[in-house]
This record gives sequence, C-alpha cells and structure tokens, in this order.
Amino acid sequence: MLEGIQSGANPTSWLAQGQALFLFLHVLGVACFGYIVAKRLVPLIRAERDPRLDRPWARLGKVFRFWLGQWKHPRYKTAGTLHILIFTGFILLAMRAFTVLIVGVSPNFVMPGLSGETGHLYEVATDYAATVVFLCMVLAITRRAVFKPARYEVPAKFGKAHKADAIFLLALIAILMVADSLFEAAKAAGQVQPGQHIEFAAALSLPWLLKIFLVSLPLSVLGGLCFAGYLLHELTFYFLLCYRPFGIQFHVETSLFNVYFSKLDRGKLKPVKWGVSDEHLDQVKSFGVKTFEDFTWKHMLDFYSCADCGRCSDNCPANAVGRPLSPRFISIKARDYAFQHYPMFGRSDNGQPLIGSIYSDDEIWSCTTCGACEEECPLLVEYIDKIVDLRRGMVDDGAVPQSMQKPLKALNSRGNPYGKMEKKKADWANAKDFQQVCQVKTLDKKNGADTLYFVDSITSFDDRLQSIGRATAKILGHVGENFGILGAAEKDSGHDVRRFGEETLFLALRDHNTDAIKASGVTRIVTADPHAYNALKHDYKDVPPVEHISQVIARGVRSGKIEFRPVENGNDVYTYHDPCYLGRHNQVYDDPRDVLDAIPGLKRVEMARSRDRSFCCGGGGLMLFYEPKEDQRIGVKRVQMAAEAGANVIVTACPFCMVNIEDAIKVAGFEGKMTAIDLAELVDQQIVRERPVVTTEAVEIPQECVAGR
Ligand code: SF4
Ligand code: SF4
Repeated sequence: MLEGIQSGANPTSWLAQGQALFLFLHVLGVACFGYIVAKRLVPLIRAERDPRLDRPWARLGKVFRFWLGQWKHPRYKTAGTLHILIFTGFILLAMRAFTVLIVGVSPNFVMPGLSGETGHLYEVATDYAATVVFLCMVLAITRRAVFKPARYEVPAKFGKAHKADAIFLLALIAILMVADSLFEAAKAAGQVQPGQHIEFAAALSLPWLLKIFLVSLPLSVLGGLCFAGYLLHELTFYFLLCYRPFGIQFHVETSLFNVYFSKLDRGKLKPVKWGVSDEHLDQVKSFGVKTFEDFTWKHMLDFYSCADCGRCSDNCPANAVGRPLSPRFISIKARDYAFQHYPMFGRSDNGQPLIGSIYSDDEIWSCTTCGACEEECPLLVEYIDKIVDLRRGMVDDGAVPQSMQKPLKALNSRGNPYGKMEKKKADWANAKDFQQVCQVKTLDKKNGADTLYFVDSITSFDDRLQSIGRATAKILGHVGENFGILGAAEKDSGHDVRRFGEETLFLALRDHNTDAIKASGVTRIVTADPHAYNALKHDYKDVPPVEHISQVIARGVRSGKIEFRPVENGNDVYTYHDPCYLGRHNQVYDDPRDVLDAIPGLKRVEMARSRDRSFCCGGGGLMLFYEPKEDQRIGVKRVQMAAEAGANVIVTACPFCMVNIEDAIKVAGFEGKMTAIDLAELVDQQIVRERPVVTTEAVEIPQECVAGR
C-alpha cells in the first residue's frame, strides 16, 4: 500500500510536497523527547543505588508475564479488558507508526519483511487494531467522564484530581487513530479512481468506513485529506510523545523497564543502604528516606510508572477504613514533587524533607505492610520498601509515635514488646493441665532436638494466644517431631520491629536469636506465627530452614499421620482468613485449606476477598501497638466480609490475626454469633489420637509431647 505514495497520480503524491516540513517535525519531535527524558532521568541519576541487574532470565520472565502478557489486568474485568485491547493494539501499531513516520521523508520506504502478502496481512491487522484502539478510547473516556468509577476519585486530602489530564490523553490517542485512518482511507479512496491499483482496506475497520465516505470526492480533495491526515498524525504523535512524560501516561515509556527491574523476592525488605553490610551500618550517617533524593532510582522509576489506576488503593485496608493512607498517592505525590522540583528549565531544587510537606507521619505509620497494593499493581510498583524506608527516616529523627515508645523500649530491654521477664517466656508450656499431656523441652547443652519450635513474643505472653502455642506443641508431638523451644533464650523475632523502621533494634534481636538457634543445634525450625516465619525465612541469615505449622499439618494429613474426627456441629460454616505474611508474602494458600477440607463434615466458604486478595486483619508492622486515625477498625471490615460470605467460624493461622479478629467480632456486634479459631487449635481439637490424651499426673510423661503416642 505504501508504495502507492510514489505515484504522482494518486493522493499520496501530495505528501511529497511536505517532505521538508515532515523532516523538520521529526527532528524537532525527537529532540524535544530526548531533552525531556534526559531531564526526567536527572533525579534517578542522583538517587540512591539499587542493584537490579541480577537474574536476567527471571526478569525477562516477568516482562513476558506482566508486561507483554498483561497478567494482572484481568483482575479488574472492564478496565483490564480495555487495557489489554489497547496494549495489543499499540504493540501491533508500533511498526506501522514507525513506517508512516519514515514515509513522510522517504516515500518509497517499506518496512523490511512487510512487503507483498505479509505486508497486506499486516495492514489488515493494523486497520483493525486502529479501530479497536479508537473504540476503546471512546469507551475509556465515557467511563471516566460519565460512569466515574470510585477508585479514580481523588479525596481533597490527597491533592487535585488528574481526570482532565487522563481524558485529554485518551482523546489524543483517539485523534491519532482517526488521523492514521484518514490518511489510509484517503489513500485507498484515491486508488479506487479509474486506472489506479485498488488497495484492500479491512472490512468494517475505521479506514474502511472512512473510505466509503470519501470515495466519491475528487482526487485533489483526497490528496488534501491524505496530507492533512498525515500532518495530524505527525503532530499528534510527537505531541503525545513529548506530553506523556508530564503525566500519568509516562508509564507507556517506563513500564517495560519498571517491570524488568521489579523486585524478585517476596517477603524481603531492602537493606538500609545497598552496598553497606549490617556490620557497617554504624557508619551510615542518616537512615532511611528523608528527602526525595534518598529514594533509590528504582523507586523513582516506580513514581514515573504509576498509571494512577487506583487498584492499589482500592485494595489497601488502611485506605478502606479511612486511615490517612492511600498508596496510589504515595506515588502520585512523589511524582508531582519530582516534576516540580526537577523542572524542564532552570535548576533543580532538591533536599526538601518529605514528611511534613508531601507526606504526613500518620500516613506513613498507617501501613500494615500487608502487601495488597503490590499484589494488585499491574506495573509492579513497590510500596512496602518505600514506606519502611520513610519510617526508618522518622525513627532516625526520633519521630516515633507516643504509643510505640513503650513497646520499643521493652523490646530493647527485655526482648519483647510487653516488657515481660525473659524467664517467663516459656510459662505458656508450664500450665499444669497442659504438662499432663505434653511436656515441652527447653533446648540447651543437655537437651537437644532436631526441630526448634520458635514461639515468638505474642504467643508466648498473650494469655489468649498461649493456647495456639500449646496446640502447636501437641501437634508437633503427634506427628513425631523431636522438638524443643529456646525458652528464655528466645527474643522477639524482630519482624515487625524491622517493618516499623527500627533496623538497629531488629539487628540486635536477630543476632541474639541467630546465636541461640545455632547453639541449639537444630536442623529445622517450625513456627505458628507467620511474622516469625517471614522473619526467619527472609530477614535472618544462616539459620536452618523454617516451616509454618500449617505446612507441617498438611504434610501430616497427606501422609496419614494426622486423621480427623468429624466436626461436632455440622451447621457451622467455616471460612479461612489468609494471614498476609503466610499468604501474600509467602504464597502459602493451599495447605491451610487442604487441612480444613480434610476435616469430615466441615463446611467451608470463601470470603469475597481471599488468597492473594485477602484483606489484612490490621495487625502487621507493630500495628497492634499503634493507635491510628481511622473511621472503622480494619478487623471489623474483615469480620463483616466473613458474615457476608455466610460464615460463623473464622479460621486463621496467625496469632496477630486472632487478636484483631476476636476483638473485631465483639466490636462488630457478632459476639455469640461468630467465633474465631486458629488452625492449630482447630486441628488439635479435631485430631484423632490413638489413645486418649493423658490427663493424670500419675502417668509417666516422656520428654516430648505424649499426645497421640
Ligand atoms: S502494604 Fe497494605 S496497608 Fe500498606 S499501603 Fe499497601 S495495601 Fe495499604
Ligand atoms: S501504583 Fe500501580 S496499582 Fe497503584 S495507582 Fe499506580 S499503577 Fe495503579
């Protein structure tokens, strides 16, 4: 089709008259775009380092899955389908756009490989692609302007809406498609004139429809339309190219890189400073992010890449209950800051503190580090590392919330946030009735074991949660684990201390526990606390492999070591609440469900938000000790979801979740109608034991738990 341009008798010959103009536009457009991108790169060059060149195959895999494959988009059906159609159209049209640009200065140009039949097939595909993209733009504009999905709204506290900008950009793309189609249609209509070679236009496509309207016009008018279509295409193309880096559509350029350089390891936190080992942290002058330039270059790329789609905030529990945090605006505010402080002309104005200007301290403390935002983002924008880095900055400046000071002090002095004496750490295992069925040994030089049961602070010291510890110990005994605990030698895992931003305290706790674990000589670790599980798995180094108790139970069920008796009340309806640090951060979704489904007579339903879309209980990141500003408790929203699913028993597998959910059941007015139970407690209750649990002190108790022997 494009070779027709060289013919002086058809409308495309008009293009020849504009060669000089088109060349000028190309040079100007490319130069402007190059300048703008160079300016946008300035803060990234000044940013903190962030090594992301490792594991290229894994990174390419992410590009294929999340960028080319648009993996996360269908999670929102309407918007996702529109985006996939637009993205596919763009990919198909990319080569055509490039070809059309070159044709303006070199009329004979045909893209290598796209002549003859292949070229015709490609033209048909792109005619349809342009049509689909145009229709999608019309739909997207209508959605934004008329239907106004709630997740696009911008509450006044987070700044001004970008709706007009979004609609303007969508309209520009629609104009680009029309210009491209007009150029093609005028050319095709001219070729229908007698004596010309008739080009094929894909039936029912936009160029085809336009051609029908244009075909009766004189050749000179068609030539003018061909020229106008080309010029409009050219101007719109370069305007879009240069305008996108000023708004939400910059992601068109940055998304490929953002996905390639995205974080590969779930559950891990970035170090305080890349390239500085923990041993040398005392030489670091300032911890965390205090100014924009303290962010890493990748985190700045995240800001540029955010498409302002609102999916992160739509899934954020803090945002859902009216806390002053909406992750989308962590990105948008930082991006606006970058645009303002790194202007296109003039000097950059850097080094301004972020807390108190674009972010508030409440906003940053409101995060539970649940990971729902990151799970949802189609562009793999990261939030937890940034929020923890901002917290590290505040902790470094001594700006710690009042309610957090006591638990932090207690963690420092006693190794647990309650300030309890170390010697009381194993009191949960010393309850008389429990000791009659199970004796838990404390590991020392004389008492060794294969497996360490790492209990962690909340289960050790909270009266209600100690029952999870006892159930876990009995289950370990039942499946024949030779296990013990560290007792007074165990300090808090430090998981939430670290996510709170207290890195130095975390390192002290970690080093203490690491030494104790190594000295115990165990070869594996089991815990019933997903926070401890995540810490031992991702934050600790050189410790034996760790499992969550749900994984041990599931294996016991599969191997036949664990059998269940039927539930007593067949009318109860159970639902499983995925703890964030077991599910989203470590992908343990099936084991707890398999265990529940193995209990005869147990009816289980899923909540609308489950598995990787699970809704946090509100307890992560030391939130148990923080009093956030909120309209409603996060846990209350969660138990309402369970009620909506028709459940009256919520099963979880995390002591933090248990505290929040039991509390929320009371606050939500479900007391007496709904209960919560930990998976380990339920399993201990339903397990079939070969002989009755030993209950008299007269019976000789072995070192390990005897339950089930
Ligand atoms: S980690 Fe959870 S609480 Fe924090 S911003 Fe993301 S979704 Fe919100
Ligand atoms: S961070 Fe991701 S999910 Fe959130 S608004 Fe930006 S692009 Fe959308």
